[in-house]
Amino acid sequence: MTLMATHEYDLIVIGAGAVGENIADYAHKGGLSALLIESELVGGECSYWACMPSKALLRSGIALRAAQAVGGAKEAVTGTIDVAATFARRNSFTHDWNDDSQADWVKSAGIDLVRGHARLDGEKRVVVDDTAYTAKYAVALSVGSDALLPDIPGLAGATPWTSRDATSAQVAPKRLAIIGGGVVGVEMATAYATFGTTVTVISRGTLLAGQEPFAGEAVKASLEKLGATVLIGASTKLVTRDDSGVHLTLDDGSVIDADEVLVAIGRTPRTMDIGFETIGLTPGDWMTVDDTLLVKGFDWLYAVGDVNHRALLTHQGKYQARAAGDVIAARALGHRVHDNRFGKHAATADHEMVPQVTFTDPEVASAGLTAEAAEKAGYDIRVVDYNLGYVAGASLQADGYEGQARMVVDEKRGVILGVTFVGQDVSELIHAATTAIVGEVPLDRLWHAVPAYPTMNEIWLRLLETYGRPGD
Ligand SMILES: Cc1cc2nc3c(=O)[nH]c(=O)nc-3n(C[C@H](O)[C@H](O)[C@H](O)COP(=O)(O)OP(=O)(O)OC[C@H]3O[C@@H](n4cnc5c(N)ncnc54)[C@H](O)[C@@H]3O)c2cc1C
Repeated sequence: MTLMATHEYDLIVIGAGAVGENIADYAHKGGLSALLIESELVGGECSYWACMPSKALLRSGIALRAAQAVGGAKEAVTGTIDVAATFARRNSFTHDWNDDSQADWVKSAGIDLVRGHARLDGEKRVVVDDTAYTAKYAVALSVGSDALLPDIPGLAGATPWTSRDATSAQVAPKRLAIIGGGVVGVEMATAYATFGTTVTVISRGTLLAGQEPFAGEAVKASLEKLGATVLIGASTKLVTRDDSGVHLTLDDGSVIDADEVLVAIGRTPRTMDIGFETIGLTPGDWMTVDDTLLVKGFDWLYAVGDVNHRALLTHQGKYQARAAGDVIAARALGHRVHDNRFGKHAATADHEMVPQVTFTDPEVASAGLTAEAAEKAGYDIRVVDYNLGYVAGASLQADGYEGQARMVVDEKRGVILGVTFVGQDVSELIHAATTAIVGEVPLDRLWHAVPAYPTMNEIWLRLLETYGRPGD
């Protein structure tokens, strides 16, 4: 094949999800010309098939139940959820899967956009269809991840749903089986159980296994209250589909009948068909990067966002993108590189300071390390637990508020390593924890950060009191 003339940019970014947009924007603001290449929708998974549509599907039910939990408001709730209106609201957030506004933003930011599937073709060279592009300084991969399909006999032929189908469906199935008890599994179980779907969650281990144990327990109880069946310690051996629906045979011989089966067991990197063989990398691998997001063994290739497997979350990928865009510009223009711990070019917080929210009902909001992870990392820790329902602000938030909080303290340094909140509306509480953890704020100083009364933030005071005031 004869390639057309080569186009040169300072930086080529492959993948225009939330992460790719930010790499290109930061590098361009830093003085580089940037090309962004996208094979599907500008904005990526988060905008169209992940964060935004999933949260839109969940929000209506959460708001309804919040009103039902407050005397004086609950009497005014006379109907049930309007499923069609919930789907319509979700469609407005995804702009009916039209990316014009995001493509317009790319143009307005001074970044060139090419649509098509990009493949590396040797050092600093990228090909889209029959056009070749070369990067003067760097290529950044922000290609994201796809749903991982397990090798269960019959599954592939049973047209399973992935997270894309669950977040973009226009009607709720009558019966939905969900393989996987992680974030995607329990969020979609909550949404569809709210819509009246008969939901069965099939989970090998406990729900939300990477979180504090009380998080998964609370979510399990809430799913059961919504009418879902949660099977823990169960795995699927065989899947078949016929005119009556899909049938899942479990390891104990029991059979779950459903109309759709959602597979939510994890992610796989989009690196199978990206020209890795032309630069000595193995197709299908996750990327290994240093804290400046530079791929191990290269001085021109960066991997940012899901594809580097550091923290598969939009906010963390965008954090990496800000560092990567800046450092690519700094290195290109010969400026000083700040790759020290917490330097502006280092994604330091990826390691032990990541915040995450699971938008179930109750919500699970965490930042930093769980007690188990902190112990595994070798910290000398003390765990402080407190019942969130005892806080005045929480009792005002909802009648009979139920919730739990945990703080994990590094005893040697007297700072917080991790915080987990489980309860209604805790998602909006977690940033204070992130700030305390990243700031490595000493516990004795935190006593001077006074939470407003009567808000749920008073949980901080209760956690500190339970720990005991340093110096007593
Ligand atoms: C159901 C679900 C809910 C989620 N909810 C949340 C949430 O609430 N909060 C949160 O922080 N995270 C959430 N996540 C995770 C979040 O979606 C991802 O971490 C985030 O989308 C990763 O961003 P990214 O830019 O790395 O990848 P992506 O968003 O996947 O973007 C990568 C882009 O690259 C393009 N691309 C891939 N290969 C090529 C190629 N060869 N050539 C050209 N273009 C290519 C793709 O088309 C895509 O647009 C959720 C994930 C799922 C599945």
